[in-house]
Amino acid sequence: MPQIFISPSKYVQGPAVTSEIGQYVAPLGKKVLILGGIRSIEAVKANIIHSLALHNVQYHIETFQGESSDNEINRMCMIGRNEKADIIIGIGGGKAIDTAKAVGFELDVPVAIVPTIASTDAPCSALSVIYSDEGVFERYLVLPKNPDLVLLDTEVIAHAPVRQLVAGMGDALSTYFEASACARARARNIAGGTMTQAALAIAELCYEILLRDGYKAKIACERKVVTEALSNIVEANTLLSGLGFESAGLAACHAVHNGLTVLEETHPYCHGEKVAFGTLTQLVLENRAMDEIEKVIDFCHLVGLPTTLADIGLENADPKQIRLAAEAACKEGETIYNMDMEITPDKVYAAMMAADALGHVYKQSKETVWMQSSSLVL
Ligand SMILES: [Zn+2]
Repeated sequence: MPQIFISPSKYVQGPAVTSEIGQYVAPLGKKVLILGGIRSIEAVKANIIHSLALHNVQYHIETFQGESSDNEINRMCMIGRNEKADIIIGIGGGKAIDTAKAVGFELDVPVAIVPTIASTDAPCSALSVIYSDEGVFERYLVLPKNPDLVLLDTEVIAHAPVRQLVAGMGDALSTYFEASACARARARNIAGGTMTQAALAIAELCYEILLRDGYKAKIACERKVVTEALSNIVEANTLLSGLGFESAGLAACHAVHNGLTVLEETHPYCHGEKVAFGTLTQLVLENRAMDEIEKVIDFCHLVGLPTTLADIGLENADPKQIRLAAEAACKEGETIYNMDMEITPDKVYAAMMAADALGHVYKQSKETVWMQSSSLVL
């Protein structure tokens, strides 16, 4: 199997770069279908429209209905055809972006992605995750090419909800562990080959940046300012995590996430929040050293990512429900089979329960330390 590395054609990141989008879009097309949620479009509309006009690019704006489903993709395709769009711009978070990429593929036109939150690694990849209209994971749609342009305005990200940035860190947290699992198993990556050294190095760098700058970036986002740490985390969440997962591969973290989506209680939680719990589950499956597990739990705790089932809406979950999620994580074709070990729903269920227990123990120990130190002060 050859080694394959794929990436978007152009990645542009910086404060207020949405006001320069015209110069990057004009060489790609003359009539744009812009799709995104109402609030996402509001966040960048003035900048984008002004810049497109400056470069003589026409546009039609269509509101995204919320799910990256077959029905929504078909609806957008119809609008794109009617409008004779020769380029798609997807604005917003993971699901709007995945829809834009799928529409671009169906219409065979270039795709530009303008994330308004750094909450997932969807922007750079040649992959759309397809959900049902009710939000249940259905399948991965592998696309023949990555977006032609990914443009990230760090001012916009700094003004987006902090929770979304943190969720992006949860998604990015899985990248290194899934990459290293794929490296051990010499597994096939999303691009259909084995990984290059570059992909593994990118995944490692992604983890390093999270540990180094994650908390500082969260603080900056709380104050709505762009600092170097915030820029680095935007790059880790979007570019490094995107290149890493796609060209190195996915394993148990994302399969457990997909399994969790069958439980309705988890639907209010972000992709990256569920992936963070999936990461902890993978570490237990691999029986990683305690210090490695602690490093991850510590990071999650510091930035505010889930470490227990209760943190993702499953505080009163019946063990039967968790078993359902474990079974869904082991569905045929899931990336969990990239793990270099025998996988069974029983093993995944056990790892999920043990990961939950570790998260609880950590929280209790933190509380004890806090109680001890506050009683010392008294
Ligand atoms: Zn992800």
